[in-house]
Amino acid sequence: MRATTLLSRLFSINSTRVRGFEFADDGLVCDVEPTTRVAVCGGCMKPCRKVHDRRPPREWRHLDLAGVRTALRYAPRRVECDACGVTTELVPWATPRSWFTEIFEQMTAYLAQQCNRTAVAEVMRLSWNTVGPIIERVVARVLPGDRLDGLTHIGIDELSYRKHHKYVTIVIDHLTGRVVWAREGKSADTLIEFFVELGIERANKLEVVSIDMSPAYIDAVRTMAPHVELVFDRFHVQKLAQEALDELRRAEVREAPDTAARKELKGTRWALQKRPWNLHAMERSRVSGVQMTNRRLYRGYLIKETLAAILDGRQQHVARGKLQEWISWATHSGLKPFVRVGKTIAKHIDGIVAYVATGISNGRSEGTNGKVRTITRRAYGFHTADSLIAMLQLCCSGIRLRPPVVVPSFHQT
Ligand SMILES: [Zn+2]
Repeated sequence: MRATTLLSRLFSINSTRVRGFEFADDGLVCDVEPTTRVAVCGGCMKPCRKVHDRRPPREWRHLDLAGVRTALRYAPRRVECDACGVTTELVPWATPRSWFTEIFEQMTAYLAQQCNRTAVAEVMRLSWNTVGPIIERVVARVLPGDRLDGLTHIGIDELSYRKHHKYVTIVIDHLTGRVVWAREGKSADTLIEFFVELGIERANKLEVVSIDMSPAYIDAVRTMAPHVELVFDRFHVQKLAQEALDELRRAEVREAPDTAARKELKGTRWALQKRPWNLHAMERSRVSGVQMTNRRLYRGYLIKETLAAILDGRQQHVARGKLQEWISWATHSGLKPFVRVGKTIAKHIDGIVAYVATGISNGRSEGTNGKVRTITRRAYGFHTADSLIAMLQLCCSGIRLRPPVVVPSFHQT
């Protein structure tokens, strides 16, 4: 058997044969060509008989052969397509504009789904920045087209990345826990793009949408799907009270009479944010300390805790009554940050009561949310939102990848 035949059979890439090979400085380079005589247009993927000329030879990374870096080399034909004009032919082993074979890309994406970025980059001998575009291409090939079908309960959330300078809006299906849509930005227009893609018919089937209290998202949902029940995500509601408490604590630190009192107040930050049953003994004593020494801060703590307790309830009428009492308490507390939060909650009370009634919250898709946030942190270093979005879709959209298995065709003649 000739060595080129052996290599052709080992690779077993559809409609591809190896014509020659050489050992270059960094590994094996195999000269390949499509077995089909008629070229395929890289634009519309239709057969194209009129060949213009050839581009200079170029290389595509392929899976290592016995641990040796391996590349395929070919000089693609430039074809004259009736529809697309002069384009470069489509080769059977790679997607247009990629420098890697599809098998190589599938392996990379599989590893990116399973391992951390250092492992992916080391095993595939790639820089992490190259991994992003590879994942984008694989996701485009495997992502099912119907993921916006049958949505009834969705959660909309914003994700910040690149140290909070950039944002991505994501839509999660509460019933499957999958990320079904993602786009760069966090404005009303960003979310409107989702509803445009969803279309009127599918938007009409939506029942519940959970969001934070961002006016941009509220506007978009109210405009594009006015019939849905809007639920305000409990974690965002509670976060308002937590932030108010922290603002109050910082103000109290500034006004503390001496260094010791200041230091003691500073040490209460985490204890005051936690729910009481999660407190360690030391934290419990810090909260007791606040109770004895700082009545204003302790009042803020009670207001924050009471809101959380109301949201733990499951009866909407009870919750509405309690929320109204809570709003009155907060707005008359004499604590500026809580007066403000009280007003915000009063404005959004229907959506907060809807949380109590439905129990639906973005935190409910907690598994997905945790994963999404881990990926966003891990994705630091991705240059574009597109790469981050592709990574989210790769790991949180229910895509199941397998490592590519090549079955060599040794029995062919
Ligand atoms: Zn064409």
